[in-house]
Amino acid sequence: MKLHVTPQYDTDVLIIGGGPAGASCAYHLATQGIQVTILDYQPFPRDKVCGDFVGPVAIRELAGMGIDQYEAFRKTNVITQAALYLDGKPMITKNIPLVSGIPDHGRVIPRMELDDWILKAAVKKGAKLLAGRLLDYQVFSNGVLAHHKKGSLFAKMIVGADGSSSTVARILTGSKPQAEDRILAVRAYYKNVKCMPDQAELYFTSQSFPGYYWFFPTGPDTANVGVGMVQENFPHQEVNLKTLLLELIEKDPALKAKIGDGELEDKVVGWPLATYNPDHPKTADRLVLVGDAGGLINALNGEGIQYATLSGRWAAETITECIRREQFHEAALAPYKKKIVEELGFDMSLSNTLIQFIRNRNLNPLWLKLLDIIVQKARRDDEYADIAGGILAGLKPANEAMSASFIGKSITQGVQTLATDAFREAAKGPGNITRLAWGGMMFGMQTAGDLMQHPGNYLSWGKGIVSNSFQLAGHVLKGINNRG
Ligand SMILES: Cc1cc2nc3c(=O)[nH]c(=O)nc-3n(C[C@H](O)[C@H](O)[C@H](O)COP(=O)(O)OP(=O)(O)OC[C@H]3O[C@@H](n4cnc5c(N)ncnc54)[C@H](O)[C@@H]3O)c2cc1C
Repeated sequence: MKLHVTPQYDTDVLIIGGGPAGASCAYHLATQGIQVTILDYQPFPRDKVCGDFVGPVAIRELAGMGIDQYEAFRKTNVITQAALYLDGKPMITKNIPLVSGIPDHGRVIPRMELDDWILKAAVKKGAKLLAGRLLDYQVFSNGVLAHHKKGSLFAKMIVGADGSSSTVARILTGSKPQAEDRILAVRAYYKNVKCMPDQAELYFTSQSFPGYYWFFPTGPDTANVGVGMVQENFPHQEVNLKTLLLELIEKDPALKAKIGDGELEDKVVGWPLATYNPDHPKTADRLVLVGDAGGLINALNGEGIQYATLSGRWAAETITECIRREQFHEAALAPYKKKIVEELGFDMSLSNTLIQFIRNRNLNPLWLKLLDIIVQKARRDDEYADIAGGILAGLKPANEAMSASFIGKSITQGVQTLATDAFREAAKGPGNITRLAWGGMMFGMQTAGDLMQHPGNYLSWGKGIVSNSFQLAGHVLKGINNRG
């Protein structure tokens, strides 16, 4: 006779990390009556280094958890438009595009408050919160044994929601996130600034590209200001982001006008972001990774809160089914992985491809010209602006950018802009044409010289473009097949 011993579980699902991803997942699981325990080593409310911009999709997710009903939430700063600056000059200002079923605004919400609200909502639904740092875990055929500083817990499943330096993901893959999948960023809070409270601003400068700066108002005269840059770029530039940020505030005329007499409220602090890598696992037997732990950050805009809340909900939907069926092997978790690929794969791959191009700082003049071309078209064509802005804000599916009409408009604008530039220079006299041609030749020679000096850099850059383009092509083909 065989004896079946039912294991004693401390909880059905153990979630490591109580940020937006872990807390959303816990909220949706607890709503289904599933026993959930969240383990986080930080006492809440706690700060998290962030730009604090909560995009419209995340606002919708928060509303789904009833957080939009909180009085404190309603008092947070509403953002209805976004502006882009290049080398201190305003390029374009547009309203946040309207997308059906998604609010027409974002908010800037300090994480000290936002994360606490989501966590409290989960606890109110029945999730248990435990203080402790996960050290290690083992997956057995009948459950997961997780060890933290003060003891251990046995659960049916483990969810890694422990952020961009996830212990759960590191133990699963055996390594830290690769440098190519990292953005480094710093943020600072300023008071007594002059700003338009409903306008989020992004700044690019020719010297610090591919770095980008943000100015997100937290109220009528306060703002979250920061800078982010891909870690892996070449020619490799050792940058101190804190110095870069303070320098820009000092030198960029547009930012200086806003922050000039403002005061830094606290220290400038930094944190890495882990961007999307399609090869990074999202599931394993009895294990799911959500939010930053799963690398769910859009490399183009650094946004992660919407993907954290979305992936938390999607993971909860799949786990609920697994618990009902008592099936926890990786194949049973496939619906979660499928959802990520279907809903986010194309957008993330397009962002990765664009970022892979601009990693090559030698070609900065070219990338900035392309940005200029897109902005010039967007200024005059609202439909085009909605698509370009919607993609940048993570609101519109990026495959809209691949539509024939969008690409056609971009090419036409490109030809027009380049021809106008050449004509303007020619009108200044023959010397200018020579200078223009000379400039182009020098740029070409510089790039060729650098290619000969550092062929390895160019090779891995090119390989990155090819592999990202293949990923993108795969999503395009899948989209065509699904439509067909
Ligand atoms: C400088 C900067 C600016 C950003 N700006 C924006 C922005 O404006 N808008 C936007 O949408 N996104 C932004 N992001 C990204 C955003 O912050 C993240 O995508 C988001 O925080 C992801 O949420 P999460 O729940 O996955 O992880 P986190 O919010 O990082 O939460 C992880 C939790 O896990 C806990 N934890 C970690 N390790 C352990 C362990 N071993 N044991 C127990 N607990 C553990 C931590 O204490 C933490 O509470 C920015 C990121 C940075 C760094």
